Amino acid sequence: MKTRTRFAPSPTGYMHIGNLRTALYEYLIAKSQGGDFLLRIEDTDQKRYVEGATDIIYNTLKTVGMNWDEGPDIGGNFGPYVQSERKPLYAEYAHKLVELGGAHYCFCSKNEADEQKDEEQNIKFKDPCKRLSLEEAKARVAAGEPYVIRQTINKTGKSKYHDEVYGDIEIDYDELDEGVLLKSDGFPTYNFANVVDDHLMEISHVVRGNEYISSTPKYNLIYETFGWEHPHYVHVPQVMKDAQHKLSKRNGDASFQDLVAKGYLPEAILNYIALLGWNPGTEQEIFSLDELKQVFSVERLNRSPAIFDITKLTWMNGCYIRALPFEEFHKLALPYYVKMPAYVNLEALSKTLQPRIETLADIERETDFIKSLPAFDNSLYVNKKMKTDTDVAKANLPEILETLSAQDIWTNEALFESLKALAEKLGVKNGQILYPCRIALSGKETTPGGATEIAVILGKEETLRRIKSAIASL
Ligand code: GLU
Repeated sequence: MKTRTRFAPSPTGYMHIGNLRTALYEYLIAKSQGGDFLLRIEDTDQKRYVEGATDIIYNTLKTVGMNWDEGPDIGGNFGPYVQSERKPLYAEYAHKLVELGGAHYCFCSKNEADEQKDEEQNIKFKDPCKRLSLEEAKARVAAGEPYVIRQTINKTGKSKYHDEVYGDIEIDYDELDEGVLLKSDGFPTYNFANVVDDHLMEISHVVRGNEYISSTPKYNLIYETFGWEHPHYVHVPQVMKDAQHKLSKRNGDASFQDLVAKGYLPEAILNYIALLGWNPGTEQEIFSLDELKQVFSVERLNRSPAIFDITKLTWMNGCYIRALPFEEFHKLALPYYVKMPAYVNLEALSKTLQPRIETLADIERETDFIKSLPAFDNSLYVNKKMKTDTDVAKANLPEILETLSAQDIWTNEALFESLKALAEKLGVKNGQILYPCRIALSGKETTPGGATEIAVILGKEETLRRIKSAIASL
C-alpha cells in the first residue's frame, strides 16, 4: 500500500505550532517513503468559520517548503479536499452505517442530550433512542422529525489497537461516548468525517495529537462496521509551554505567524519543531527540510510531552541567521530599517548585525543609538581595562576628530588603520583611542561592532557631528 498522509487542519485563522509540527511529521512520513502528502481542510464546524483562514494554511506550508501533492487548490483523484464540499457523502455513509447497525437515529432535543451529560458528569451519553426499532426510527425521519445520527456502541470488554508512538492501547468499550456522527444540519462531526475521509482518500498513516488516543477506538468500530481497514496511528504528544500548560494561542506564543513576527526565520522554526518530539539519534541539531526527509523515522518519535523552549529556538535562529548568504540577510533586515535616517549606510549596518543578532527583532534594540544618539553620562568613558576615563576622552577626542576629518576613504579597514596610527603617534594604547570614540558615537557601553564599524554605519558627516558634540559636553 502506498504511503499517504494528510494534514487536516481546521481553518482557525492561525497556525498553531503543534499543528505545524503534526503537518511536518505527516510530510516526513510520506516523503521519506516516496509517498503522497495531502492537504484536507476540516471546516465542518461552520460556526467557527474564519475569513482568510485557508490562505494562512496555504501560505505557512508554502513558506516552510512543505508542498502538498493533492489539496483543495490543486485537486487530485480523491477530491474534493474541503469537507464542507463533501457534505452529501457523509450523509450517505452515515445512513449506511445505520443500516449496518453501527449507528442510529436520535430524536432527543439538544437539551435532553446535554442535560443527561451534565447530570452524569460527562459520563458517556446513553442514548434512549437506540432502543427504537429501525423501522420506527425511519418512519419518524420520513415524517420530517429533526434527528441526528449517533454512534451505537454495543460492544463490551476492551478495545485494543496499536499506536506507532504509544504502543498497544486498551480502552474499555464502556467508556466510549455514543456521540453524534451527523448533525441535524447534515454536517458530520470530526468523529465521523475523519473516518470516512481517511478511508476514501486511502490514507495509510494518521498523525494527530494524543488527545485523540481515547476516541480512536470509536473510529475503529466504524471502520470495522464498514469492513474497512483502519490506518496506522501515530499519535504525538502535545507541545507544552511548561510541565503543566499547553502552548496556547492566548499567550501569543503558539502560532507560526507570531514567531515570524517576532523575527524568527521559517526554516529555523521548522528545524526546531522537528526536534520537539523526534530525536535523530545523533548529536546533529541543524537540519534542512531535505535532510529531515533523509533521516526521519517514526520509530524515533517519542511520547514524552515536548516543552517548547524559546531559548533553544532563539539559539537555533541565530545559527540560521549567521548561515544566510549576506544578500539574503540584508533583504530580510531591510523592513526593520524603515525608520533609519538617511545618513545610515544600511549595507554596513547589516554586515555588523548579521554575526551578532539571534532574531530579526533584535535589530530594533541593537540599532536604537544609530537612529539618534542617546543622552549619556560622561562616566561612560571610564573603563579600567581600556585604561580610559574622562581625561583620556578629553585629550584624545579632538585628535580623533582631526584624524577622521582628514579621512577620505571611509571603510572599516581604512578607519581602523588611521586610528591605530594615531594611537602610535600619541604613544597611547589603541583602546584609549577606540573606546572613547565608540562611546562618543554610540552613547552606549555595549554596541554591535566597534568604533570604526559604527563610524562606517553612520557615515562621515554624522560621525564628525557626534564627536564634536561629545567634545563640547566634556
Ligand atoms: N481537524 C483536526 C484538528 O485540527 C484534525 C485532527 C486530525 O489530524 O485528524 O485537530
